[in-house]
Amino acid sequence: QFPFGRRLPCDIYWHGVSFHDNNIFSGQVNKFPGMTETVRKITLSRAMRTMQDLFPLEYNFYPRSWILPEELPLFVAEVRMMKDSNPSWKPTFIVKPDGGCQGDGIYLIKDPSDIRLTGSIQIRPAVVQEYICKPLLVDKLKFDIRLYVLLKSLEPLEIYIAKDGLSRFCTEPYQEPTLKNLHQVFMHLTNYSLNIHSGNFIHSDSVNTGSKRTFSSILCRLSSRGADVKKLWSDIISLVIKTIIALTPELKVYYQSDIPAGKPGPTCFQILGFDILLMKNLKPVLLEVNANPSMRIEHEQELSPGVFENVPSPVDEEVKVAVIRDTLRLVDPQKKKRRDTHNIYNREFEHAGEILRSLSCISGMKDKQHKHHSLKLSLKLKFYLKLGSCQSLEPAPEASEEPPGAAPSPEAALPSLCLKQVFPKYAKQFSYLRLVDRVAALFIRFLGVKGTTKLGPTGFRTFIRNCKLSNSNFSMAAVDILYIDITRRWNSMGIDKESGMCLQAFVEAFFCLAQKKYKSLPLHEQVASLIELCECRLGALHGRQSL
Ligand code: ADP
Repeated sequence: QFPFGRRLPCDIYWHGVSFHDNNIFSGQVNKFPGMTETVRKITLSRAMRTMQDLFPLEYNFYPRSWILPEELPLFVAEVRMMKDSNPSWKPTFIVKPDGGCQGDGIYLIKDPSDIRLTGSIQIRPAVVQEYICKPLLVDKLKFDIRLYVLLKSLEPLEIYIAKDGLSRFCTEPYQEPTLKNLHQVFMHLTNYSLNIHSGNFIHSDSVNTGSKRTFSSILCRLSSRGADVKKLWSDIISLVIKTIIALTPELKVYYQSDIPAGKPGPTCFQILGFDILLMKNLKPVLLEVNANPSMRIEHEQELSPGVFENVPSPVDEEVKVAVIRDTLRLVDPQKKKRRDTHNIYNREFEHAGEILRSLSCISGMKDKQHKHHSLKLSLKLKFYLKLGSCQSLEPAPEASEEPPGAAPSPEAALPSLCLKQVFPKYAKQFSYLRLVDRVAALFIRFLGVKGTTKLGPTGFRTFIRNCKLSNSNFSMAAVDILYIDITRRWNSMGIDKESGMCLQAFVEAFFCLAQKKYKSLPLHEQVASLIELCECRLGALHGRQSL
């Protein structure tokens, strides 16, 4: 903290909530511009919908969702249609206010007519989502998983996943939703912040009991019951990579706006919290992504009526200390220069400890305790790191963490990393999904004015002209109409005051053009063909201009 202003640049900037300081020109910041906006419930649902339109099977890990109030008629119509075609379908839906957290304002419904239209929904948009009725239960309780993911870089894309996470339990035995139990939040919502108020909440003093446990303890349990935990990990890794692939186009637009290409820096990284639910058949489902996951390693305990004290939470500590320690290890600018492994360990460990202390105001916890937990963790993680080398995901040869023939890294003496690289390690299997990224690259190219995130009508016309997409069937007047129609609709839904065409509107226009041009192909092939055509024509134009 610099109450009197910062005089010297830092290597690493650790911002509390979001990227907010445009006066940073070097080093690394722990937040990406626009991440908070990108992972909000509505924006995430939109990005997932785009990917589901392109790749329905690959993105079936995200529950079918509708955005309220604008898609209420669509929601009603689709549910009616599905019920008509399958009268035995008795769905439940969950309504979640946009921008809400900790279960705030969430409720379950059995029928679209139960949406509470009076008051808040018009003011506060929400997502209504298919409710997963058959979650995996442990000790008869519903639970979800919080996994920590490090987005180390956007360009090139680098993703790491922590090998252990948290499992947060409900405090009432689970029953499938009925009109009678729909309102029982301790049965249906796994939020820690809600369940802590239940009389049944058990603070865990070990990692495999209580209302918050380590994910590894659940995996051990599942493994002893004969479940295929390697397949589960592989599915989770796929879910995380695919979700980040869905988010990167929007993030790149924000990035170029806050850190334009000419600006020397900074670069960014970010720890994300992925909330995942396991279905009874062990299929992971994405619930949401948190841009600012809690890194608290303590919890409040009521010592006597009305007297509260912060006490260390061994489960949080075991998982979170390792995530922060390894994030610092991975982004450490001095990493390559260091020789003395012992010093590295101590320095990084102390550094991680310092940050944790300032983040969570740890009181009365000694470094010895941190070290003890960290070492315990490293032993346990060895087992899970092995699990992480997934059978069904093939690592790319270029993605090994050490160059072939390199001398053993001094890091060998450190506790093994709990953060495992999954991208570019498994890039080969997922690169074909990155179509919207390429559409975003075209969008950014025509944005023109630095600092903007919206495309003006001239930029859109130039895009059409330079890519030679207009012809006798598609006049420039029709181009203008397309621009006006789509832009007006998107701007009427948004809260953003900046005028012009946002990325999602451009993506919609692009899909529309692709469908027009390549009629009979599946959507993803239409889009891929149009991208190739545009890239090729722009490449030729650029070649001619540079001649
Ligand atoms: P919040 O940001 O308010 O925590 P979430 O999307 O995480 O909102 O939802 C809160 C809780 O509701 C989740 O932790 C989970 O227990 C439950 N939940 C959310 N979506 C679903 C769903 N589609 N199916 C079943 N349970 C869900």
